[in-house]
Amino acid sequence: MRKSPLVTALRNAIRRCDLNLCVQCGACSAVCPMTEVFDDLPYAALPRSIVRRFLLSQPTTEEVRALLSDARFWFCLTCDECARRCPAGVKLNEFAAGMRQLAVDNDIRAGAALCASCGTFFSTRRAVDRARHAFRKIAAGKAVSQKNPTDQDKAAAESFGLCPKCRMYAAGRKIAGSRLRAGREFSPVREQS
Ligand code: SF4
Ligand code: SF4
Repeated sequence: MRKSPLVTALRNAIRRCDLNLCVQCGACSAVCPMTEVFDDLPYAALPRSIVRRFLLSQPTTEEVRALLSDARFWFCLTCDECARRCPAGVKLNEFAAGMRQLAVDNDIRAGAALCASCGTFFSTRRAVDRARHAFRKIAAGKAVSQKNPTDQDKAAAESFGLCPKCRMYAAGRKIAGSRLRAGREFSPVREQS
């Protein structure tokens, strides 16, 4: 019988990232910054639980799809702190990043942030929403003292939905546009002799 590509990919990722060396010591969960970042973090989204869930899974296509669709798999910030502290060398950051890309490639996208301009998968929805929320709170504080949020603040809040490349292009276009509107010419930077 032909093996499912999803099952093969999961098995390869478990092997490559050494998940099966996990001794369930919990050092990863103790250092994981997600507890500080997300108010609604369930215990089962902590790294030790994630590793355990993937290791105990039955490798069928449906099971792999269920694991990748599970909202608890999309909390991880892929910061690599757990891998740096893990005594067994488990590379959960690399595992999460690879499996998420696999999920997106297989149309499992509920937890993924796709760029509003080019459609590239660049982060998780949860991380983008959290960053946007934090930014809006800061901008709202400023707006109270300034009466209204500035156009710059509004544009910055919108840019959270863009991948880093499109964000850079959008910023460049905006600056160039405002210079042209102001009738200012670009002058080449002269090298110092
Ligand atoms: S620190 Fe490493 S060995 Fe310990 S529970 Fe986490 S992944 Fe497993
Ligand atoms: S890579 Fe993910 S699971 Fe590991 S410490 Fe960072 S946020 Fe936590």
